Amino acid sequence: MKYRDKILFGLPLAAGALVILFAALFLWQRRSFEQAYMCDAQNNIAQEAYLVSLILKPMLDQGKIEEARKFCNDFQKDVLRLSLIRADGLVEADSSENPGFLGNHLDRVEVQGALAGQPTTVKRYSESLNQWMVYHALKLPTAQGDYVIRAAVTADQATRILRLARNHTLLAMLLGGGLVFLLTFYILRRVRHPLQNLQNAVAEIASGNLETRIDIPASGIVRELAGGVSYMAEQLKQQLAEVTSGRNAIEELLNAMSEAVLLFAENGDAVKYNQTGARFFKLKGPDAKFNLVRSEIPGLLTLAQRAFQSGEAFEREFTLQRTRLTQTLFIKGRIIVQEGKRFLLLTIIDLTNQRKLESFRSDFIANVSHELKTPLTCIIGAIETIREESKLTPEQNSKLLEMIFEQSNRLNLLVQDILSLAALEKKQLAPGRDFATLSLPAMLTEAIRLCADKAAESGVSLKFTEQTPLQIAGDCQLLEQAVANLINNAILYSNSQLVEVSLTQEQDSAVITVRDYGIGIAPEHQERIFERFYRVHKERSRQLGGTGLGLAIVKHVAQLHHGYAELRSTPGKGCEFRIILPLA
Ligand code: ADP
Repeated sequence: MKYRDKILFGLPLAAGALVILFAALFLWQRRSFEQAYMCDAQNNIAQEAYLVSLILKPMLDQGKIEEARKFCNDFQKDVLRLSLIRADGLVEADSSENPGFLGNHLDRVEVQGALAGQPTTVKRYSESLNQWMVYHALKLPTAQGDYVIRAAVTADQATRILRLARNHTLLAMLLGGGLVFLLTFYILRRVRHPLQNLQNAVAEIASGNLETRIDIPASGIVRELAGGVSYMAEQLKQQLAEVTSGRNAIEELLNAMSEAVLLFAENGDAVKYNQTGARFFKLKGPDAKFNLVRSEIPGLLTLAQRAFQSGEAFEREFTLQRTRLTQTLFIKGRIIVQEGKRFLLLTIIDLTNQRKLESFRSDFIANVSHELKTPLTCIIGAIETIREESKLTPEQNSKLLEMIFEQSNRLNLLVQDILSLAALEKKQLAPGRDFATLSLPAMLTEAIRLCADKAAESGVSLKFTEQTPLQIAGDCQLLEQAVANLINNAILYSNSQLVEVSLTQEQDSAVITVRDYGIGIAPEHQERIFERFYRVHKERSRQLGGTGLGLAIVKHVAQLHHGYAELRSTPGKGCEFRIILPLA
């Protein structure tokens, strides 16, 4: 039994015990009183019986039985009942009744006792007088034979009072018991059960189930308590909801950050991190264990240990070599103290793309300047010669002019390609591009037509081998330009007599293939072939007026249509350039 229940049940039990104790005490008192009364009555009547025996003895000795009878009959019967009984049990005289009506008294206990020589006192119900009596009998031996003198007093009044007292005690006990039962029932129903329910509900709430309903009893002493607990639970729920929503907002904010944010304990264990942090260190699941020792960022661990020692913040750029990728990281570290414990807050900003972009831009500018420089030098040189040389023959003059025209054309092509690329990049960045539906076979037919003259000039036959009637949403002109770039390249660089164009469907994509059977491209160039200004045959490309941007344009056009471009080539066997465009 719980302590609470001990207290609850202790009260009625104590009350019950008190009732029983009082009743027992009273009954014991009653018994003592009865015994004292009996003892008193016994003494009195024994004395009186003895006195009477002294008076009756001479009468009976002399055989004056009538005199003895008269003495008995005249005895003051209100005070004492006196009987003279013969040894055979017949009543000779009686102060209260006509002896003729009285039966043989040999069966009476007191008479039997007296005849046996033992003066006997007994309390019993008198059938002849219809009341409780205390009898005392003693043997009176006479010259005429043995007699029994019996004196009796009524015990009716005392017995009745005692019985009444006993009945009252029993009634009081019954009422007390009933009261105790009712009290226990009340406690069970109105206190213990609601308390039990309340305790269960509080335990549920404490275990985290805040939706637990608290029953508030309609009345009773637990009502107020249950109401208070319910209010408290409601407040707790509200506060917890506020805290949770605040925490969620912070977590969402942290997770939305492109920077990796991680909190490390002094032993190096990560205690909290955002999603970027988890991705950065490849941590799976929100409870994944991670220690700074495993960071693989050279020098970071030492810096972190120093920060823990000195408490000072740090900021530094790190280079991390990961299999094929070199990452540039800018890491900020700061010591924060929470509940007396020190933590290191790391913010990792990945600068790899930014650095790549920066180097890409400077490379691009260098490349463009380089590409512009050659034709511009030629043009300037030709113009200077025309201006300074007065003796130029008409042929020389027209040759120089032809050169200026060619180089200007080259410049023009270069600028056009750069502008095309810039326009493509801009389109790729614009969200929600609106494309018209176009027929891919028709687009390819037009691209082949655009290259037909050049193919004929170079003695290359152009074939459209496979045509699957496919349609996509796209920019027809850009796709034509991309395919034409591939066909022109095949005509210019492959030395193949045949260039085949085909259109097929692979799963959910349309695949445009431009295939030649020429010199092919070595594997070391294949990876970089789609980069701007990347050329395999540098001199040839320049001689032929190539800008080095044709394949970069192809790649961007494919990407603009959510697809990609790829090259499959075996040196000496030719090239297969593929543009893969998703149909959906
Ligand atoms: P370019 O303006 O030089 O043609 P591209 O980007 O179109 O620039 O092509 C890049 C380089 O790839 C070319 O300079 C050439 O060396 C090589 N190339 C392209 N297509 C083929 C091909 N079909 N066969 C062999 N080499 C090719």
